[in-house]
Amino acid sequence: MKNLQLDTTFLKKINNDHYSFVDPKPLKNPKLISVNRALANEITLNSHFIDSVEFVKFINGENLTDNIKPFSYAYSGHQFGFHVPNLGDGRALNLGKLNSYQLQTKGSGITPYSRDGDGRAVLRSSIREYLLSEAMYGLGIPTTRALGIISSDTKVYRGYETEKASIVLRASTSWIRFGSFEFAYNSENKEENLKNLADFLIDESYPHLKELDNKYEELYFEIVDKTIELMALWQSVGFCHGVMNTDNMSAAGLTIDYGPYAFMEEFDQGYVCNLSDKEGRYSFTNQPFIAQWNLSVLAKVLSPIADEGLMNSYNDHFIGKFKKRYFAIMKEKLGLYNNDIDDTTLILRMFSALQAESIDYNSFFYKISCGDFEFINRVQIKGWFKLYKNRLEHETVSKEERFSRMKKINPKFVLRNYMLQDAIDKAEQGDYTLVNDFLEIAQDPFADHPKYEHYTKPKPNWEPLKCSCSS
Ligand code: AMP
Ligand code: MG
Repeated sequence: MKNLQLDTTFLKKINNDHYSFVDPKPLKNPKLISVNRALANEITLNSHFIDSVEFVKFINGENLTDNIKPFSYAYSGHQFGFHVPNLGDGRALNLGKLNSYQLQTKGSGITPYSRDGDGRAVLRSSIREYLLSEAMYGLGIPTTRALGIISSDTKVYRGYETEKASIVLRASTSWIRFGSFEFAYNSENKEENLKNLADFLIDESYPHLKELDNKYEELYFEIVDKTIELMALWQSVGFCHGVMNTDNMSAAGLTIDYGPYAFMEEFDQGYVCNLSDKEGRYSFTNQPFIAQWNLSVLAKVLSPIADEGLMNSYNDHFIGKFKKRYFAIMKEKLGLYNNDIDDTTLILRMFSALQAESIDYNSFFYKISCGDFEFINRVQIKGWFKLYKNRLEHETVSKEERFSRMKKINPKFVLRNYMLQDAIDKAEQGDYTLVNDFLEIAQDPFADHPKYEHYTKPKPNWEPLKCSCSS
């Protein structure tokens, strides 16, 4: 542990009301559930360290070396459309940077931003974040990641029940949110604070913009582009985030803050995964529109340092650009590489058939990547398969080549909610094997994994699980 040097010098670049130093409050009898060896390797964490009790203590915030001074970020946000000025890392502590990843523990106790919360994260929500962030990474979708997870004997109250407290060690190239800029906008020296924060973000995630005269407008344009890409990727795998508040939107274009998310199983444009979202504000089909709305908030708060008109005009093109990118990805998922004037119609008809016949979204793409067009015997999709087969006649790549390319974009495995629930139920009993099995699947969802074949199928009679925000 003595050798672990984490850099926090970057903090000097932002105004000190953007963060507070906080001491971690360790959990009782911490136990390691899982360590992400792939990521540990990538950031050159010593393998002896991650296999030692020191690593568990590190995640738990015990015996931190003097060079580590944990801090929590302040931010504001729009939650379900309403401005909330005083948010922040209510249960997360930043420890510093190691090889471009900033390490953060989630669930380490109260901070000045905890409001009514207890600063803790329950085991189920920590396992869901740990596995899903790696699953998104495995799918090639920009995301924060997770390096390890611990359980404990500390109990926390949720509703009328007690649950086990847990901590996830998260890692990200950036923790700056749209809400971080809203916080700067609300401060006394807004112009200076906004500039410092924007420069900080440029250093961290957009270094090529550093020398430009109009760097703040360019920064906004690039955030828009990254968000478009993120939305196209989310929609293409049926990912529903569930809480797209501006404080949960990464200014570096990453998937951030895994709460009540879900991969959509039976295709449904109106799917809402968050039990607290009664009006369906964050439904599957709304996600790109919400992202654009969130970007309009960002344009407003950046207006003291960048041209608001230019930023808004750029954001006006969000949906057009999103559709272009989304349809391009969908074409690849279908193995269509030539251009045909009717491709958009073909894709829209596919969505209608998937919706009308409640077909499992990701299994559908995996099946057609194996050349199986007979697996569903329903009228609408059979009609669509006819159109699709005709369209494939216009392709020039061989069938084998097509299937091989399709299997690199259509995952064989997605972490379905019932799988996560099984892993959680077992972990509550102290058995962490499923968490570790699913980590293996998550990190390479396109591989064959013959021993996990049964997880390729939707679970029959599974009641879709809905989670709420508070976990
Ligand atoms: P979310 O929408 O889940 O990202 O959470 C919104 C805000 O509530 C963030 O500032 C979180 O840090 C904070 N929060 C969520 N859960 C807790 C908790 N158990 N204790 C303290 N703060 C929390
Ligand atoms: Mg959040």
